[in-house]
Amino acid sequence: MPMPQIEPGARPVLVAGGAGMIGHHLCRHLMAKGFPVVCLDNLSTGHRENIASWDGNPDFRFVEGDVVDGLAGTFAGVFNLASPAAPDHYLIDPVRTLRTNVMGTLAMLEVARRSECVFVQASTSEIYGDPDRHPQSEDYLGAVNPVGPRACYNEGKRAAEALTRDFRRQYGVETRIVRIFNTYGEGSRSDDGRVIPNFVQQALRGEPITIYGDGRQTRSYCHVDDLVEGLLRLFSTPGTIEDPVNIGNPGEITVAELAEKILALTESDAGIDYRALPQDDPKRRCPDIGRAQALLGWSPRISLDEGLMRTINWWRRKNAEVPASQIAGQG
Ligand code: NAD
Ligand code: UDP
Repeated sequence: MPMPQIEPGARPVLVAGGAGMIGHHLCRHLMAKGFPVVCLDNLSTGHRENIASWDGNPDFRFVEGDVVDGLAGTFAGVFNLASPAAPDHYLIDPVRTLRTNVMGTLAMLEVARRSECVFVQASTSEIYGDPDRHPQSEDYLGAVNPVGPRACYNEGKRAAEALTRDFRRQYGVETRIVRIFNTYGEGSRSDDGRVIPNFVQQALRGEPITIYGDGRQTRSYCHVDDLVEGLLRLFSTPGTIEDPVNIGNPGEITVAELAEKILALTESDAGIDYRALPQDDPKRRCPDIGRAQALLGWSPRISLDEGLMRTINWWRRKNAEVPASQIAGQG
């Protein structure tokens, strides 16, 4: 099916999970490009605050609801980001995590099918499991423990990829799958539990940095603005893009190096507190972004130091805010 022409100002784009860390940046960038946005989110791991500044904006509509229940209407595009993403969040209710990823993706695919629009599925580097090939390119099939604690997330996302691909095969929906590697930035919740929100908050509070395991495991961190640029290119590039595309920053560092960097950037002398490594925690992760470069002309531009400083400054501003409840006259 040829990709429908997307004109700014026409039907809205649906962003499921739009109140989350990545989702609200995506909403902002879409509106800046002239697309009205409908954000569907149940606020289970997102933040009402992330989208509060658009209350009353005619280009933005927030629908509080579960992705599993679908949504009426037709759209110019559908992005499905609705899923808990932090291990501390997706492990709270693993059955719900699986249901969200399978039934929620199915419901959003039905919306895209009805709308005859492009569908973008937010998949994850987690689908590669604890990889035994490095860096990970899209043709690597992964090493996933299907009965481990992380399976609710990584197997849920694998099933979501299969569903997405089958909606293309069976119904001709113009689907795109983005495999997102570790992404950080402004707008995380304080209870997120992922490594950068944890380390930054700990460093700013002067509390010891919690390194799980010996800290030699690696990740490759992408700032959210780079990631969103990749998502927008994947959405709007004409033609057929049926295979998954990795989006991430190939700058690989160990967790211990990340801790040192955050301590230095925050000028904190908080120490290190070594904790147990969670089961099935991947030892190395780094994206091969050759496909994104070739198909989308995309590469990350924001260095880790710059992205971390933006994130640290956001947390500093957030920590300095006076809660509304403490302002005189506001209860
Ligand atoms: P996040 O938790 O900040 O955002 C997820 C959003 O989805 C939240 O606003 C949450 O309330 C919403 N949500 C969850 N379950 C829902 C449901 N059943 N119905 C409606 N809304 C629901 O996480 P994020 O880091 O912004 O991740 C966004 C997407 O990107 C997720 O799909 C995640 O799997 C994917 N991803 C993120 C990363 C990363 O490093 N940040 C890496 C790989 C993939
Ligand atoms: N991690 C850590 N301390 C923390 C949080 C995470 O050492 O306070 C480690 C975690 O064990 C993993 C890496 O940092 O090896 C990245 O974890 P995160 O939860 O951010 O992402 P994921 O494991 O999903 O890549």
